[in-house]
Amino acid sequence: MNMRINSCLMVLVIIASLTFVENAPGYGYRKGNGTKIKWEGENIRWRAASNSFPGGSSYRTALNRAISRWNQAPGEFHFKSVTWGDTNIERKNKQTEIWFSDTLGSGSATCYTWLKWRWGKATIKEADIALDVDVPWSTSTIQSNKDVAGSEVESYQGKAYGGNRRTFVTTALHEMGHAMGLQHENRRLNIMGSDTSHLHANNKRIRAYVGEDAGNGEVYLYGRTDTILKNDLSVSHWKFWKAGGTDNEYSQHIFTKIYHISTGNPVYSKWYEGVKRYRVKKGTTYHVQFTYENNGYYTQNGVNIGFYISKNRNITTLDERFATRTMNLTRNRPYTKKLTLTIPSNLTVTHGYWLGVIIDYTGSIQEFDEHNNAAYIPIEIIP
Ligand SMILES: [Zn+2]
Repeated sequence: MNMRINSCLMVLVIIASLTFVENAPGYGYRKGNGTKIKWEGENIRWRAASNSFPGGSSYRTALNRAISRWNQAPGEFHFKSVTWGDTNIERKNKQTEIWFSDTLGSGSATCYTWLKWRWGKATIKEADIALDVDVPWSTSTIQSNKDVAGSEVESYQGKAYGGNRRTFVTTALHEMGHAMGLQHENRRLNIMGSDTSHLHANNKRIRAYVGEDAGNGEVYLYGRTDTILKNDLSVSHWKFWKAGGTDNEYSQHIFTKIYHISTGNPVYSKWYEGVKRYRVKKGTTYHVQFTYENNGYYTQNGVNIGFYISKNRNITTLDERFATRTMNLTRNRPYTKKLTLTIPSNLTVTHGYWLGVIIDYTGSIQEFDEHNNAAYIPIEIIP
């Protein structure tokens, strides 16, 4: 009995010594004997458990949503359409499967990858995603204002948008990143960190996305996508905060801020509709921070950025534009930037507004996702 356990441990030790996580380029990935660990082919097909993803369920829709987001991303890896109704789910049964489990030891979801070694080179031969059935999941794309975060610590846990529920699609994007060969990344805003705070929000809707860092990692492992639309720009009110979580492996994210220019300190703010609202003076100049991403394949130069004042949290080009900038964005890592902006003088004191930003407001670039181009920070005008 003991002999068997020992020999199992031996195998694990040998594998561990031959594979290590390489994360110098930004995104993390694994190497075995000096080569990237990835699939031999460039596509896989999930087999979804029949009980977990029944026909007509919101989970089936959400799983398809996660797959289509990855399939738009700039790398060539492709998830084929799901085989539904799998009744024989098992780890390491030569099938790539996804299911809800009641026996997950810890964490809300896990991706197991199984390697094949041949002539000293490792490739992934099977991936399985198990999601904890006891987690209160949310498949909704509507922003929740319930259980509003009371602190930044809670906001990076994703409670600002989903109430106390965990967003399913961000989790699925994260685990699928593991399935194709990506590892955790703790140095920048990215889906392979704390996925629940890697989201876009506009017009009360939340939108999960792969993002620049993980998309760049997919390109590194598999090369350029074959899809027709290879470009996407986005802007969000999230930024990298610090490494944290289990073994400090995850990036943690907080909201971008508005800063006083003279002191560099954040402007006074209060929680409002699940985010922070800043008290600013009209006609006064501040540093306004957002995160800009090039989620596509090609570098974009001279990208037009517009800043707007809106009377609601739906930022559109119909709102009043009060400033413009241009930016060059290479596919590498998210660009969190404070820009010097003056709050317009025609706003009403004590009223609340939304300071909006739209990337490519001229619509010059054809993008695979046109729904992640606007973001906002709420403001209140004080005397
Ligand atoms: Zn993970």
